[in-house]
Amino acid sequence: AEFAALDAGVDGGQEAEEAQLSQPVLAVVGRPNVGKSTLVNRILGRREAVVQDTPGVTRDRIAYDALWNGRRFTIVDTGGWEPGASGLQGAIAAQAELAMSTSDAVLLVVDASVGATTTDEAVAKVLRRSKRPVILAANKVDDQRLMAEVASLWSLGLGEPQPVSALHGRSSGDLLDKIVEALPDAPREGTPTAGPRRVALVGKPNVGKSSLLNKLTGEQRAVVDSVAGTTVDPVDSMVELDGQLWRFVDTAGLRKRVHTANGTEYYASLRTKAAIDASEVVIVLLDAAEPLSEQDLRVLTMVVEAGRACVLAFNKWDLVDEDRRYQLEKELDRGLVRVPWAERVNISALTGRSVRKLAPALRTALESWDQRVPTGQLNGWLSDLVAATPPPVRGGKQPKVLFATQAAIRPPTLVLFTTGFLEAGYRRFIERKFRERFGFEGSPVRINVRVRE
Ligand code: GDP
Ligand code: GDP
Repeated sequence: AEFAALDAGVDGGQEAEEAQLSQPVLAVVGRPNVGKSTLVNRILGRREAVVQDTPGVTRDRIAYDALWNGRRFTIVDTGGWEPGASGLQGAIAAQAELAMSTSDAVLLVVDASVGATTTDEAVAKVLRRSKRPVILAANKVDDQRLMAEVASLWSLGLGEPQPVSALHGRSSGDLLDKIVEALPDAPREGTPTAGPRRVALVGKPNVGKSSLLNKLTGEQRAVVDSVAGTTVDPVDSMVELDGQLWRFVDTAGLRKRVHTANGTEYYASLRTKAAIDASEVVIVLLDAAEPLSEQDLRVLTMVVEAGRACVLAFNKWDLVDEDRRYQLEKELDRGLVRVPWAERVNISALTGRSVRKLAPALRTALESWDQRVPTGQLNGWLSDLVAATPPPVRGGKQPKVLFATQAAIRPPTLVLFTTGFLEAGYRRFIERKFRERFGFEGSPVRINVRVRE
């Protein structure tokens, strides 16, 4: 039952996870040759060989990371989707439909030197139904002479046309301002967590939390006072490990050993939850001398659901003999199936054995927690994977994975944009392969699926 709960943490709670989606998606649509790729390159601020002379040529890379004024978003060039509908107009209308259902905002690019064509009008008609914001770019306005043409694009009924020259860069900053304004709010990049990284030390009663904290702090209580400019919550402990200062959160209870006195399990579990929520990385202390318990699994569930990085510390290793070690390995294979990504460290708070291995493990876990795979790299890998092993057919239909983006870090969160539901088993397969390719040891990875409505 505990494993089912863990599973629900990964597969369920979709809505909550959507809410914390932090990298919005902009889809770019328009007829061939209006300058979509040139504009995408302009927005990305680099010249990349995605401009094709032949309209309709499939581009294998269609999603990119963009950054403007500190706001990060994913830009999707729908030219790469190559909708198979008959006729150009139908194809582009289908493309617009798809764009609407997979993005947070749509950028329609029109060639101002040509004016609105019937195809542009058909696309505009589709986009006017969109619940999402639509920005209208009037491209190829290389100079002032085309401004009358630009004004005529009001007729598309999508609001003010934004003149731009993708080729020369004219007004592209203004267009980007409009785009960023239209996208949903996302946290700004480049604000590192202030001060030492926050660690929670959790585990069932008597597993050795106080002992470990005492071992770690040992003689170095003085550190607390010598840290200039850090306000330390009196319930936290500052600990120097491996030349780095760490903030162990909510340790007051551990020091005072209140847990045995009025330690109802409910109270203990609230404390554990609070400590996990306040942390970035969690040391889950497990008793190596005893079988893995329900309580241990509950704690692990909390960590996974909270999306925190994690290190598993098997304490009381001094009590483990050859027989027990063998038995433990078997237990763990079954017991820890949902956190195979967590590093295991065998320690003894009593003797101090291997306690110094904790800091490197914490660092690795946090690096994974902070890691972001660039969208281009992610899609290159994903398209190969999906081509080799497509999602299982469901109700006679083969869901297609259109593209993916790593929408968030802390915890790393992937969003897959698909044409159909992906089974939990297939998502787990993707996660496993993702980890094989990109690592992420010590951190949970969330995979959300956005199905085209
Ligand atoms: P896409 O098919 O919509 O992706 O269009 P491309 O980006 O491949 O551009 C089609 C052609 O229009 C290319 O020859 C571009 O150099 C040209 N082009 C794109 N933007 C501009 C622009 O702002 N001004 C002018 N004069 N030409 C442009
Ligand atoms: P807490 O309730 O998780 O804070 O656990 P404590 O730190 O109070 O430890 C509970 C008991 O386990 C105490 O009697 C400790 O001495 C003992 N203990 C803690 N760590 C170890 C260890 O590594 N080896 C052994 N043999 N005993 C330990």
